[in-house]
Amino acid sequence: MTADLARGRLPLRPDLVGLEPYGAPQLDVPHLLNVNENPYAPSPEVVADIAAAVADAAAGLNRYPDRDFEALRADLAAYLHVESGVALATEQVWAANGSNEIMLHVLQAFGGPGRTVLSFAPTYSMYPEYARDTFTGWVAGRREADFGLDADVARTAIAEHAPSVVLLASPNNPTGTALPAETVLAVLDAAAAVPGGCVVVVDEAYGEFRRAGTPSALELLADHPHLAVSRTMSKAFGLAGARVGYLAAAPALVDALRVVRLPYHLSAVTQAVARAALRHAPALMAQVGSLRDERDALVVWLRERGLTVAESDANFVLFGLFDDRHAIWQGLLDRGVLIREVGPDGWLRVSVGTPQDMVAFQDALSEVAGL
Ligand SMILES: *Cc1c(COP(=O)(O)O)cnc(C)c1O
Repeated sequence: MTADLARGRLPLRPDLVGLEPYGAPQLDVPHLLNVNENPYAPSPEVVADIAAAVADAAAGLNRYPDRDFEALRADLAAYLHVESGVALATEQVWAANGSNEIMLHVLQAFGGPGRTVLSFAPTYSMYPEYARDTFTGWVAGRREADFGLDADVARTAIAEHAPSVVLLASPNNPTGTALPAETVLAVLDAAAAVPGGCVVVVDEAYGEFRRAGTPSALELLADHPHLAVSRTMSKAFGLAGARVGYLAAAPALVDALRVVRLPYHLSAVTQAVARAALRHAPALMAQVGSLRDERDALVVWLRERGLTVAESDANFVLFGLFDDRHAIWQGLLDRGVLIREVGPDGWLRVSVGTPQDMVAFQDALSEVAGL
């Protein structure tokens, strides 16, 4: 490919020359703990319900799907009501092929040339890519040593850069850090003062894993028309393969996203799969409870062995610090355990798996790191 480009055959955008596609390694090993998936496959009941719903949808595949997927949006609103206690109207909910596409919609509508998206690092490595793909300027402010966000640092950065979009991952990836409501409120206030306006997106991809007492930004929606809260079915819901992300916001904000989406972006099959899975939300939420317990036990285990562990409200844990983290990562992989080499130097991230996965991880780490 590079040779063809050098000969000038493909008019690739200059800013894309030499770039590699994003992606964590997809390797065939027994313990996959590197992309924060739910380790539990859908139950036979869920599989049967999804299969029946897909059969039903298949019978109508000669027609384009419901462009505004009203039924799915209503189901998602009902789910969020149960999960967070916040009542939402159908017009306040949007969905797309993963929250990756949700973020793209947000930046297509509210970013663009001459505009800036602001986030605070270390954070999700996809954010700068959404900025690049929408020709939006990218600025990363800083998080503190404990990976929290200082409200004054955030206010100053917003005043200085006057972004049209602020992205806050909470719980944050790769650190697991959730933001307190005061911090999100400080960001919302500062954003409201940006001339021309500023949308604040709280990315709650891991929201369901938050610990008791950690609030969801959904609670702030009613008073903040420039707030959007994004969620996904990829993590807690165990549906990463189905590609369904969604967002809750004021109806006017959602309306703006409807302008930029591709027509019929959410296939009839995707809509059917998501709705069938949502019918099983109570059972899936019980499973999330056990993953949270597994996470908390993992944090204790790592700390008891003298390792540094970031506070986590997610289904993964960032731990360290290692002089040669790559050697640890490789040693684990050699023992059939794939984790992620990500975050500031010296740290590694492990997803919470089944109890068997965790035993394999702990045995391998004890051996490799000499714990
Ligand atoms: C995994 C993840 C997502 C979810 O992406 P999908 O496209 O919905 O699978 C979004 N934001 C963050 C921070 C994530 O880690």
